[in-house]
Amino acid sequence: MTKAISLLGATGSIGRQTLQVVQELGLQVAALTAHTRVEEMEQLVRRFRPALAVMFQPEAAEALRRRLEDVDVEVASGPEGLLRAACMDGADTVVTAVVGSVGLEPTLAAIRAKKRIALANKETLVCAGELVMAEARRCGARIVPVDSEHSAIFQCLQGCHGKEEIRRLILTCSGGPFFGLSYQELEGKTAADALKHPNWSMGAKITVDSATLMNKGLEVIEAMRLYDLPVEQVDVAIHRQSIVHSLVEFRDGAMLAQLGTPDMKLPIRYAFTWPQRAASPDRKLDLLQCGPLTFQAPDMEAFPCLRIARECAAAGGTACAIMNGANEEAVYAFLDGRIGFQDIHRLVQRALDAVEVKYTPCLEDILEADRAARRAVRSHLG
Ligand code: NAD
Ligand code: MG
Repeated sequence: MTKAISLLGATGSIGRQTLQVVQELGLQVAALTAHTRVEEMEQLVRRFRPALAVMFQPEAAEALRRRLEDVDVEVASGPEGLLRAACMDGADTVVTAVVGSVGLEPTLAAIRAKKRIALANKETLVCAGELVMAEARRCGARIVPVDSEHSAIFQCLQGCHGKEEIRRLILTCSGGPFFGLSYQELEGKTAADALKHPNWSMGAKITVDSATLMNKGLEVIEAMRLYDLPVEQVDVAIHRQSIVHSLVEFRDGAMLAQLGTPDMKLPIRYAFTWPQRAASPDRKLDLLQCGPLTFQAPDMEAFPCLRIARECAAAGGTACAIMNGANEEAVYAFLDGRIGFQDIHRLVQRALDAVEVKYTPCLEDILEADRAARRAVRSHLG
């Protein structure tokens, strides 16, 4: 069980919910990191008293240092700051709640420091999952998923004796705010439309990914890496109610599922208490009140991102890193109102056409694939 954490991405949606669980379980906080939000970080430092506080942006770090002159805390910045937070002596668990491939190198550093990784940052496993999982095996570090679907599967696999027992994983998907619309109807959708998610309140990037279904594509790859399965053994079912958080079908035909209210605090808490469970003050699922549970196939025509992700997963090499880097750039361009909704998958496809895939890549090949994909998208945007 976790005693002290280092939290990368403390001001985000997962970061804030993590700190609620930290208070509830009485855990210590050794380090906190954020990107630019100085005021919020100041409050968190005063409340949780970490030894290290990191602002990714150097000017923000300077501002935080001035505000915290009366507090005994070290303030650091940049990628080096993130790496230091990932290896903090005082923490046994590192929560990776930053958004994007910026999480990759700190995750590797935490693995090498033999921390338990409570992994929310799915982009890391999408870009470099094979490398990250191999490093975790080599170092004996435990990666416990925080993403709700992967936590559900992790919970269903407690007691499983090996992957040969698994027939397939079924990731459930809410369908997002644009469920049921056609490809053409989606063309005109704006960032404001996409940011209205029906069941979950999350950061802007993952909310857009949920609208394009790229989020489910990223999660298919995340599941393949976590559980070492080929893409053919990872299916997706649209489940509008977000109550069944995912399922495992075993080779004898038995299916196990994890159900609950849509609340990220449950997978966060489980990542800390695993292999045990702790009591929770949160609202529990009332089966008699939750209504019918429905499952259906995703519409691959209207949401091409899911198809592209499955193709990249099958291709392997740096294909997933290229796809992820291009998607990050395209999503931020969409949020800025610079491109339309269906331009996201077009830009991702263009980057995949433009950047050459490398097989059996090293870390530098993956980082370069990510950079090249971003350059390809930016050059299309002009
Ligand atoms: P968010 O945008 O709310 O928060 C992101 C955090 O990362 C913030 O603290 C921000 O300061 C920090 N950050 C952003 N860019 C950074 C950079 N360049 N360098 C350093 N720090 C940076 O995002 P979120 O919704 O909390 O999601 C975080 C991660 O968890 C994502 O990978 C997401 O896919 C995953 N996830 C989120 C949810 C959810 O419910 N929000 C569920 C499952 C998985
Ligand atoms: Mg998820």
